[in-house]
Amino acid sequence: MDQTERIVFDVPVDFTAAEFAALCRISPDSPAFELVEECIDDIREHARPKAVVRWADVNRVEGSLVTVNGVVFDSLVVADKLKDLRRVFLSVFTAGHGLEESGLFDGDPFLDTFNGGLLAHATGWTIREMRERYGFDGGSMLNPGSLPDWPIRNNFALFDMIGNVEEIGVTLREDGYMKPWNTTSHIHFPGHGYQNCSLCRRYDCVGRRAKFDRAEYIRIFAVEP
Ligand code: SF4
Repeated sequence: MDQTERIVFDVPVDFTAAEFAALCRISPDSPAFELVEECIDDIREHARPKAVVRWADVNRVEGSLVTVNGVVFDSLVVADKLKDLRRVFLSVFTAGHGLEESGLFDGDPFLDTFNGGLLAHATGWTIREMRERYGFDGGSMLNPGSLPDWPIRNNFALFDMIGNVEEIGVTLREDGYMKPWNTTSHIHFPGHGYQNCSLCRRYDCVGRRAKFDRAEYIRIFAVEP
């Protein structure tokens, strides 16, 4: 593969009701599980999760300044995670607008839960593609906006570097947040499945995907959390 290539994926919607419920964090013994079973055919027919990824070079890391494809980011955590690397993947994953556009889920209180499940599916599927197609372990991810150290405005540079993210139906608002809501942006790097949640002090967040790591927080930021 051309190592500067930008790749767009239409993520296959091939999960079972049980697999999709797990992605939505719905327990098999909850009443909501029956709802997933009722809706699964419509979800598989109409959902359009997508991803766009692009290789990037890590040019230089000095203090908190990290240069990736000639663009400078100022972040202690990005510097710490990329300091020994030469190549990374940049990406944007989205649940897409498929369920909304079908009109079948208008006013459905589970619409956001289902879109959250589609985003989790797009994330897992694309990370597996990185491994299987390109031999790249992209399971560790840095997301702009989830830590004050690397704020959401970094999405502007990240989107410019990836290029034409609109092709997967994702746009940036003036404040740097993305539309549609169930969309995430990342720098992927090899490691042990690092996620920003491990350094995030929103201790009661229901979306938490990794335990808070106090020792690591102190090592990187040199302050008590
Ligand atoms: S704990 Fe919650 S707010 Fe913090 S990074 Fe994770 S998902 Fe985002």
